[in-house]
Formats: sequence, structure tokens, C-alpha cells
Amino acid sequence: MRAYDIIKKKRDGGRLTKKEIAWFVGGCTSGRVPDYQIAALLMAVFLRGMDRRETSALTDAMLHSGTVLDLAGVPGFKVDKHSTGGVGDKVSLIVAPLVASAGLVVPMLAGRGLGHTGGTLDKLGSIPGFDTRLGPDRFIEILKDVGVAITGQTDDIAPADRKLYSLRDVTATVECIPLIAASIMSKKLAEGMDGLVLDVKAGSGAFMKSYDDAGALAETLVSIGRDAGKKVVAVITDMDQPLGRCIGNSLEVKEAVLALKGAGPSDIMDVTLELGARMLSLGGLEADIAKGKQKLAGLIKNGSALRKFYRMVEAQGGDTGMVKDPARLPDSKEKHGLKSSADGFVTRIDAEQAGLAAMMLGAGREKADDDVDPAAGVILARKVGDTVRKGDLLAIMHVNDRKRLKEAQGMLEAAFTVGTEPPEKRPLVYKIIE
Ligand code: URA
Repeated sequence: MRAYDIIKKKRDGGRLTKKEIAWFVGGCTSGRVPDYQIAALLMAVFLRGMDRRETSALTDAMLHSGTVLDLAGVPGFKVDKHSTGGVGDKVSLIVAPLVASAGLVVPMLAGRGLGHTGGTLDKLGSIPGFDTRLGPDRFIEILKDVGVAITGQTDDIAPADRKLYSLRDVTATVECIPLIAASIMSKKLAEGMDGLVLDVKAGSGAFMKSYDDAGALAETLVSIGRDAGKKVVAVITDMDQPLGRCIGNSLEVKEAVLALKGAGPSDIMDVTLELGARMLSLGGLEADIAKGKQKLAGLIKNGSALRKFYRMVEAQGGDTGMVKDPARLPDSKEKHGLKSSADGFVTRIDAEQAGLAAMMLGAGREKADDDVDPAAGVILARKVGDTVRKGDLLAIMHVNDRKRLKEAQGMLEAAFTVGTEPPEKRPLVYKIIE
């Protein structure tokens, strides 16, 4: 086989065979295929697409480019949740211990934030001592003992994805449904879970800006999961405004702990209960989604979910004192308010702009090797639909480094639109794809 022929076939709109895809992906990881040929194939796929069979073959080849965790020794149904990425999305921190407190096992391999989107690992990294680099043996031990663990992907999980993603990043081939779907699913399938609930975000702060694109991605993700013999469901949820009120790592952990104590913002709770109930349904604990939500709400109310979170933090070496006293988490030196310049209604908070503002303050990273400031971020004092008067607070910026404060403030200002008419309500949960 020759890389040249495979590139040419895809360039001309042909369908690649499983063997061709496996050969090419094998060459990406081994170094047999040079970067310029990988980049050429990525662009050909971007322009010509891949059908379901090719996309599943690509996922399978990427999955088997590295280690696949064997969780057979962990008793119980193993279910994970994955979000395609957004701003203020701290649902993993809440739903993982919550679903574990209902009796399922939640093995979660999470990622770091990049650009305007946050990452679960960075959030957990703001808890002093919390180990997000568990080896497979310790990960499995905690799953057996506590029922939930959240850790980063090790280097040997889907190494072909790292190679392909880094080239996609610099060749304008990121926004391509088969490539995104294979990238996400190869890493998720490597976890060895039995079931997966996907939160596919749609809106300004998401990869997929429109519901149609989010729907197409969701369908592809679900079909790959099914081809791999897993139970998978996708929920399309809104990411046009940030989720909850906090954006930034320790701020989001504080909000998640508040949610586990029963005082979370309603949008966070709605998404958490929807995704959590779908996880219970996949795991055979409660087929009726409405009853599943009630059950989960009960586990928050009686303290079980918070206790599970505490045990996870303890098992992963984190400062458990922060559960009782979130003031122990990193806090910024300075707070700067952003005020409304008009009376009216908040009609829009552009999630991407708000996420970029938080990133500029240090909460996120522009390049993969940047450091994050755990205390930096933004608290939204108003959400879409709220009334404001001129001079009222719209948001509070948490700042340690003033270097890019002006720029961040400008972006945050641009994220808010205040109008004279109340905005139309967007559904928070748009569609379920089973
Ligand atoms: N998340 C991933 O893991 N991969 C993509 O390609 C896009 C989002």
C-alpha cells in the first residue's frame, strides 16, 4: 500500500477500505507516513467527507493505536458522560459522583481546556493536591473502592489522535464531523466503559454553532458507539450562553460543590439531571427518565452525591477541607466589575466571547503548553432574560495578572447585549438521539 494512492482515492471522492484506513493510521503513529501526507489526507477527508463505515473504521484504527483499558475486573455497569466542550460547563464534576452515588461505576478520562472552552482536568487541578495523573492500576482501584474517578488520558491512550489532532489544528481541518467524531470516540472507547452519554453542545460557545450541525455530529457519534457494541445516547444541549454563572477553574469547582449541596443554578441542574437520568437508564437502574431525575434529585438532597464527591477527592489526594469550606480553593487578588451602560433586558451573552475573556484573564490556554491560573475567571451577575438598569453589575472578573485585563474587559463587554425587549427563550435540552 502507498499513502499517495490512499490520498488520491479520497481526493477523488472514493471510499476508503478498513484495510487502507488501518494501514494509514498505523503509519501516522509509527512515523512511516510523513506529516505532509497525513495533512493532505486530512484535507481530502475535510473536503470529501467519510461515510459511516469509514468513520467507524477510522475510530477503530485510532482506538487500537494505543492501550484500551480493561475494566472487566471492576464489578457493575461502567458508564461515562462526555461533553463536546463549552463555557462554564462543570457538569462532569457534579454528574460523575451523583451517578456513582446511585450505584453505577463512572470511569472518566477527561481533558484539558483549549481556547475558549474549559476542561474538567484544569478545574479539578485547582483543588490542592488532587491527582489528575492516575496510573491505570490506581484508577481501577479507586473505581472498585469509590465507584468514580476522574483522571487525564495517559500518553498511550489513542496516540494516533494526538498526532492527527495536532496536524488538524494547524491545517484548518478541525471542524469536520467524521474527524471530530473519530477523535472523541477513539478516546472514549479506550476507557473500556459499557455505556456513554454524550452532551453535544450547540451555539456560539460550541464547536457546532447550529442545531443541524450538532445533530449530524450526535448521529455520527452514536452510530460509531453502536458499531463498537456500546450503549450510547446523545443529548443536544444549548451552549449559546455560558452554563451557570461561573467561568474559570476554582470558580467552577465552587459552583459544582454548591450544586452538589442542592444550591446549583437551574440551568446547571437541568442539564445535570437530564444527562444523569440518561446514564441511569443506560445502566438499567431506571428506564423512566422522569423517575431517574427524581431519584438523582433525592441523592443530592440526602447528601449522598456530596459524600461521593468527598470520597473521590480524598481517594485522588485532594484537600477534602474544600468540600466544607470552598474558601480554601484558590482566589484571585483582585475583582473588577463590569457594569451595564443601558436599561433593559440581557438578550445575549455570547458564550465564545465570554470564554475568551476568561481565557485572557488566565483561566484557559491559547496554546496546548500554556499554564492556567486556577483562580482567574468571570462570574456572571446577570444571565440572558434578566432585567438590568444602567450601572448594574453584569459580571465580575477575577484577576491575578492585569496584563490582558483591558482586552478581557473589552471581550466581556462585547459578549453582553442589552436590549429593550425580552429575548426569546432557547431550549436548554434541544434533542435526544438514541
Ligand atoms: N474534542 C476532541 O477530542 N476531538 C475533536 O476533534 C474535537 C473535540
